[in-house]
Amino acid sequence: MSMQGPKTRELFRKAKQYIPHGVNSNFRYWGDEDTVVVQRGKGTYIWDMDGKRYIDYRLAFGPIILGHAYPAVNQRVKEAMDNGTLFAWTTPLEISVAERICRMTGVDKVRLTNTGSEATFHALRIARAYTGREKFIKFEGQYHGMVDYFMFGTASSSEKHLGARTDPRTAAMSLGIPEGIGDYVLNLPFNDFEILEETLEKQGEQIAAIFVEPILGNAAGILPKPGFLEKIRELCDKYGIVLVFDEVKTGFRIANGGAQEYFGIRADLVTFAKSLGNGFPIAAIGGREEVMMTIQPGKMAHGGTYSGNVVGVAAADATLEILENEPVIETISARGTALMEGIDEILTEQGIPHVVTGVPSMLSILLGMEDEPHEFRDYIKGDGDLYEAIALELIARGVMPDSDGREPWFLCYALSEDDVAYTLDAFNEAVKAAKR
Ligand code: PMP
Repeated sequence: MSMQGPKTRELFRKAKQYIPHGVNSNFRYWGDEDTVVVQRGKGTYIWDMDGKRYIDYRLAFGPIILGHAYPAVNQRVKEAMDNGTLFAWTTPLEISVAERICRMTGVDKVRLTNTGSEATFHALRIARAYTGREKFIKFEGQYHGMVDYFMFGTASSSEKHLGARTDPRTAAMSLGIPEGIGDYVLNLPFNDFEILEETLEKQGEQIAAIFVEPILGNAAGILPKPGFLEKIRELCDKYGIVLVFDEVKTGFRIANGGAQEYFGIRADLVTFAKSLGNGFPIAAIGGREEVMMTIQPGKMAHGGTYSGNVVGVAAADATLEILENEPVIETISARGTALMEGIDEILTEQGIPHVVTGVPSMLSILLGMEDEPHEFRDYIKGDGDLYEAIALELIARGVMPDSDGREPWFLCYALSEDDVAYTLDAFNEAVKAAKR
């Protein structure tokens, strides 16, 4: 059963002629028969080249917080771009967006970038410059972008790549990454208080930063154990380490103030992208005054030709205004809670061991296990094949989560109660079909 109708298939063949594997990001390649070519999106729906409609729960891996082609956002972008798109000077829209981000998330200062990866690699540079140290800690199964330094022990790692649980040194996740870079990266299991404390007892004075996705947005939405983020905060203070919340997925999605608000913990630096611009390319690094002011012309570099470009910034200005003035997160959370409860009920009725985890605006389903997962190695133990089979049956029925269970289901403001009901009916049928 291919996911491609005749027009989609024909265009994908052409895509492969000119674009390696027919996609502009490896994560989008689902194989020659199952990679989709999209014609358009509107609200919570997308349509492929054959006119087949899907309720979209991938939402481009998270950015679409309001809905595809959201009128108020597109309108602000159209108006803004008629007055020029790029000046290499500060514009009033940039100031407006920076002010909104500071107000909504509690950071003191913010610099804009275009992608999550740009935000995270600049955050790493700031942390190193601020502390004068070079090593950093990240956690297994966390993804911080297409940056050589971060591509160790990501959610794309197999158990073989990860190595021993107690060994923070892991293999690079891609060809082309110098092995020596691994000397700077310590990969620890998430939610393990003891290993974190022991590591810092030995090397705390050498660590510039601890990077953490507060919820594992690239590994099935695994949640922090109560007290774990607090422990990281406490240890960062003790050893003079910069705490970086990578909120590329959680920012402006789990709360207007992101994970800092949701968990009540302040980081020193925070990276945002995705939901900040409802699908337009914009990202940000925010943080405490003292840490952000490490950025110094002539001393510590941050820059980019397109940083603060009018198109991305106009989109962010409109998106943040809507987030502040309408019950976006509340509405999404209500829909997500209904989905989580419905999915839990269906899987229980059908006798499939499972855990529904994450939060309502980015939820995940783990199969073949009954205990809440606490780290990436728990995810690996689940039944990814059954998950994929159910996802493909869902897609055939016009409901599109990612087929990879590591990727949460993302919800947008445009998702209606009827869409949720449709999804649950389809889920029930998909589970039965996958079991057969
Ligand atoms: N950090 C996290 C937590 C992410 O999920 C991602 C992208 N999925 C990135 C960083 C990188 O963002 P981008 O793809 O915009 O470079």
